[in-house]
This record gives sequence, C-alpha cells and structure tokens, in this order.
Amino acid sequence: QKAEWAKLVNEETVTSDGQHVELAANIGTPADLEGVRNNGAEGIGLYRTEFLYMGRNELPTEDEQFESYKAVLEGMEGKPVVVRTLDIGGDKELPYLNLPHEMNPFLGFRAIRLCLEETDLFKVQLRALLRASVYGNLKIMFPMISTLTEFRNAKALLLEVKEELVQEGVSVSDDIEIGIMVEIPSTAVMADQFAKEVDFFSIGTNDLIQYTMAADRMNERVSYLYQPYNPAILRLVKMVIDASHKEGKWTGMCGEMAGDEIAIPLLLGLGLDEFSMSATSVLPARSQLAKLSKTEMESLAQEALGLSTNEEVISIVKNAINL
Ligand code: PEP
Ligand code: MG
Repeated sequence: QKAEWAKLVNEETVTSDGQHVELAANIGTPADLEGVRNNGAEGIGLYRTEFLYMGRNELPTEDEQFESYKAVLEGMEGKPVVVRTLDIGGDKELPYLNLPHEMNPFLGFRAIRLCLEETDLFKVQLRALLRASVYGNLKIMFPMISTLTEFRNAKALLLEVKEELVQEGVSVSDDIEIGIMVEIPSTAVMADQFAKEVDFFSIGTNDLIQYTMAADRMNERVSYLYQPYNPAILRLVKMVIDASHKEGKWTGMCGEMAGDEIAIPLLLGLGLDEFSMSATSVLPARSQLAKLSKTEMESLAQEALGLSTNEEVISIVKNAINL
C-alpha cells in the first residue's frame, strides 16, 4: 500500500469520475514543510501560528513572525497557504499574557475575541503577514468567528494595517483572500450571510463538533458524544458548503475529520472543495479519492443527511465503500 501511495506524490487529486478536489496539509511551524513536500500536498490549508507564540516568555516580534511566514510562503512556491491568525486560549495558554483564570476557557476569552481586544498584539501579526504576502500565495483566516461583527472588525483592522504599510512604502499583495474558520454553530447557521462577505470558509470540525454536541473534545467521559458523522454535523457542513457555492466562494475543512476515511466519501459528496489534514494523511486520502465517484458519493451523502444517528451513517458508508 505504501508503494501505491508513493506513486501519487506528484499527482493531482482526481476522483474516479474525473472531479478535482484539493488536498492540503496542516502545519504548525516552517519545519513542517518538509513533510508537506514529501507527501505531495497541493497547499497549506491551515498554518496554526500559535506555535510561534508558545514555549517562550514574551510575544514574538514582527520581524520574527515575518521570517516564519515568508519561509512558509516561499517554501510552497506559489501554492496556496492559508495562515490562521492567533488562536490562543482554550487548551493553548500563553502564561506571559497574564490572563485571568476562567471557569470555561473553551467558551471564554480566546482567539479572535482576544485579538479584537488586544489590537496592538493583533496588528503586529497582521503587519508581519501583509509584509510576507508578496512572497507567495497568502490567504488569511480568522479563527473562532461567532458573529459577522467580529469578522467585519477583524477585516477592518487588516485593511487599516494594510493602509499603514502602503503609506510607509512597503509592498503588499493586492490578491489576498480573507476567510474564516467555521467552528462555532452560530457561524455555520449564518453561513449564507457570511458567504457574501468572506472569500472562503474552512470548517474546523475539532471545535465545531464539540460546540454542536456540547461535549468537551478532551473529556473522555463524554467522548461518546463526539460524533463526526452525526447527521447534525453533516447538515451544518452541508449548509456551509452550499452557502459558499451560492456566492461563488469555496469551502475547505481543516479539522481531523477532513482526513478520515469514513468522512471523506461523505465530504466529497457534500461538495467540499479543499481537504486539509496532517501531511501523513494526504497520500492515503488521494488514493481513496481516486477510487470514489463524486456522483455516487452525492447520493450517499444525501442518504446520510436523512439518517438519525452517527452509527447509521457509519454503517451505510462502510457498506458503500467496502470497508
Ligand atoms: C478545528 O477546530 O477543527 C481546528 C482545525 O482548529 P484547532 O484544532 O487548532 O482548534
Ligand atoms: Mg479550532
């Protein structure tokens, strides 16, 4: 099987009925690029920038950040690179920010909520990103968006920073897509309105599942409720994809679900445009997709949306793809 996968490193991802989808990789640092190249990913679907801020005693400077973003953009040689702005909080703490202890960190002051309040910190990152934008195909993504107002405020800050840079004579790409993570149910429900304003969506199922099912993704006692194939999740995913396509936009997925062999047939059938996963999952996913017919998976997904439970969905998928 390994030998079969290796042959696909330089191939495009095409289904058995000739439909192309994009297979991208998730990274945490520029050092992860080697794995991305060795596994033939067609882009970076999620660059988790919080690792730049973690394991140290102070914030990374603008130049430090710029060097990392530039290294990733150059390393990908014009292929798309989706950089997610700081997603700190929840399970990822930054002790040097001295934030007060919270009862429910996963429902608290984190990610874009923090960045929109601590705008000095946020603007340093946005400056570094915009300065790096001329070195490749940068797309900027905001995490944990729960309202349109948050998205508008984040975008306004980005445009403000861009204007400042232009005034300083710094060149900035004019071609940067601006998108959001869909990982909070309110945003999935409002996807039709978001789709008019964002350039793309990336569904973060790790959080979307925990927030939809109200089941902590780290708590083993409730892990039985962490159900990726529950029709409730599939219906939200469908709403997001359909809303984006109606506005001529695209939807990716960068949660664990995107690389899962039970989920892949369903996501293909729901019309997902980009699948972003750990680099080591890219070749197995490409191999699986090559054997699937998108038309057939559309019917399978349609059937799944009408089922009642996670288990029922697993069973029809296994049946359909002989697992
Ligand atoms: C997600 O929530 O699905 C996601 C990709 O983000 P993270 O795992 O970093 O929270
Ligand atoms: Mg998340």
